[in-house]
Amino acid sequence: MNINSTIISGAGAANELQYIFQGMKRTLVITDSNVVRLSPVQKIVEQIQSCVQECLIIDTVPPEPSHQNVAEILKQTSINGVDIVVGIGGGSVLDVAKLMSLLCVNDPNVSLDTLLAGQKPTTKVKSLLIPTTAGTGSEATPNAILAIPEKETKVGIISPVMLPDYVALLPELTVTMPSHILASTGIDALCHLIECFTSNVANPVSDNYALIGMKKLFASIETAFDEPSNLEAKLNMLWASYYGGAAIAHAGTHLVHAMSYPLGGKYHIPHGVANAILLAPCMRFIRECVVDKFAQVYDLLPNAESNLTNEDKSIALVNYFDDLVCKLKLPTKLSELNIYPDEIPSLTKAAFDVHRLIKNVPMQIDAAGINQIYSNIA
Ligand SMILES: [Zn+2]
Repeated sequence: MNINSTIISGAGAANELQYIFQGMKRTLVITDSNVVRLSPVQKIVEQIQSCVQECLIIDTVPPEPSHQNVAEILKQTSINGVDIVVGIGGGSVLDVAKLMSLLCVNDPNVSLDTLLAGQKPTTKVKSLLIPTTAGTGSEATPNAILAIPEKETKVGIISPVMLPDYVALLPELTVTMPSHILASTGIDALCHLIECFTSNVANPVSDNYALIGMKKLFASIETAFDEPSNLEAKLNMLWASYYGGAAIAHAGTHLVHAMSYPLGGKYHIPHGVANAILLAPCMRFIRECVVDKFAQVYDLLPNAESNLTNEDKSIALVNYFDDLVCKLKLPTKLSELNIYPDEIPSLTKAAFDVHRLIKNVPMQIDAAGINQIYSNIA
């Protein structure tokens, strides 16, 4: 899969976006009601408005958007001939913006229903994605996730056509992000990177993205947490998230994500928080099968010791994951989320049923193994 997005990045780069809109007439901005109020976002919108004739702003994307939400947004998007869709927000907003870039083509054969039924789109209007959290990496993945409330499930619409023409990584937009969101989304990015690196379907391209992303993340996640206005650390986190998305596009996550989905689906635990509880326990479980890869990742830590054996490095890496989750003040036990041991059998079944991710686990794992991991964090 080619990720050919042009990337604009860095503190101050928000002032350099006008060239994208030159010669364009109509822009559709997709965002949410909190993000649209941020002053750096208002400045970006003003830049767009100074370049184009018509700029429609839809700021009603909810968390975990459903197909009904997207249908409603489509109804509000009555302008014809949209030249570019701009998504500014977290992963949900960017997913909706990616879908809108397909649906604004106005091809009578392409609709939300046909996409949900598995149709493979062939074209889209231009798109610019600007993440305001550093976690999902949606700006680098070909996936858009929609909730199907009537079936209590979520579906992924997957198409490389949705990959954006432009990505802007602007650290100023993440300065006001609450520290607990920085923590949980940052751990989500780390899970994308370490899971893709150790996945059964890893390859040299995904390995490369994962290693670059983890180096940036390890160098900056604690600083970004402690110093919200440190733009260098915040930019590194945006890059780590981007590389996590790029690694997903070429490989795939496995155990942490398979086991966190039921925590999100049934108990509505935020995705990054669920991943944080599972990160170290899952990595401890697979460690013996990926000792050399873990040693390679350990060497990226800022305080890595060089005179350890690979075995010791792999153990030290898992211990680092434990410490990091504590330093970021994230929960480490299911009981902290009011999930108790009698729930573990149903959690185990739901996690084991996520076959598309379980098959990526770099070792044989059965339901008893999954049950054991949940029991260890009860
Ligand atoms: Zn994730």
